[in-house]
Amino acid sequence: QAKDAGRNTIRFFTGDLNFLLSKRLEIEGKLRRALENEEFFLRYQPQVDIATGEISGMEALVRWNDPQKGEVYPKDFIFVAEELGLIVQLGEWVFRTACRQLKAWADDGLPPVAISINISPRQFMSRRLVSTLLTIVRETGANPKLVELEITETMIMRNLEQSVETLTQLRSVGMRVAVDDFGVGYSSLGQLKRLPATSMKIDRSFIANVPDDASSGSITEAIIAMAKRLKLRVIAEGVETRAQLEFLRANHCDAFQGFLFSKPVTSLEATAMLKAQVAADVPPPIRAVNH
Ligand code: C2E
Ligand code: MG
Ligand code: MG
Ligand code: MG
Repeated sequence: QAKDAGRNTIRFFTGDLNFLLSKRLEIEGKLRRALENEEFFLRYQPQVDIATGEISGMEALVRWNDPQKGEVYPKDFIFVAEELGLIVQLGEWVFRTACRQLKAWADDGLPPVAISINISPRQFMSRRLVSTLLTIVRETGANPKLVELEITETMIMRNLEQSVETLTQLRSVGMRVAVDDFGVGYSSLGQLKRLPATSMKIDRSFIANVPDDASSGSITEAIIAMAKRLKLRVIAEGVETRAQLEFLRANHCDAFQGFLFSKPVTSLEATAMLKAQVAADVPPPIRAVNH
């Protein structure tokens, strides 16, 4: 009886694995073509200063416009691109596109707004990272001070020595560094002190349970206090409710990002939001934008 069940289980896993493998091969071929055909685009999600209500930055989030499936999210292709090494090429495309956007906003006469760009583990480990990014900044004419790189806490702590070195180089050319998904990596204050970062992003998993869950609340409070001690700007991600925002405001969090203000929008919509902000005498009220 048990043996039968065992065999069945194995057959089930084998089938599952074959399915996954063929699925992977399919994605691999499509990804390579997608890079050639420029099927990717960026969405931008506003980051809002809690004290002033103004948009202080935009996070660039990559999307794949699959000719068959339409908009595909990073969770369905980033890890494959990472494994295949295609992420380096894709990451460069993302970086160049975001830098061009910065330049376009500057040429449009819009007030300076930073763009945050996610860096993948493989990109972060590459020796050529700093020189590649610098070349792109120079070629596009973007202001490096408005370029913020988002690197996850986990990635940084995997090799702290090398991370400190890379981050120092990035800082020395004027770029900002945000520690992304902070709170899930259990870093010590001693380790954090060594990081030449400029801001910290509280992971969405904590924000999701604030203010109802006491432990998420105290973790969030502790992260904000720690960021302040390290003189880092602190931003909360995944803010969906007014109650979450009020909790963050009461605890002196600097900025937030989330569906409460806006979902990630197209380049055109992001530009319109920035223009509307200039046109308005007072900062726009925190509102939900539906797309
Ligand atoms: P992340 O950097 O932590 O980005 C935040 C994610 O949370 C985004 O998902 C965003 O759409 C989502 N989000 C923002 N506000 C809310 C909210 O209020 N509620 C909820 N439920 N979600 C919210 P997205 O765009 O699907 O990206 C997922 C992850 O993929 C990112 O997490 C980042 O790690 C990665 N990623 C995105 N773009 C790039 C890229 O250009 N390069 C690399 N290497 N990774 C990227
Ligand atoms: Mg991010
Ligand atoms: Mg994040
Ligand atoms: Mg996250």
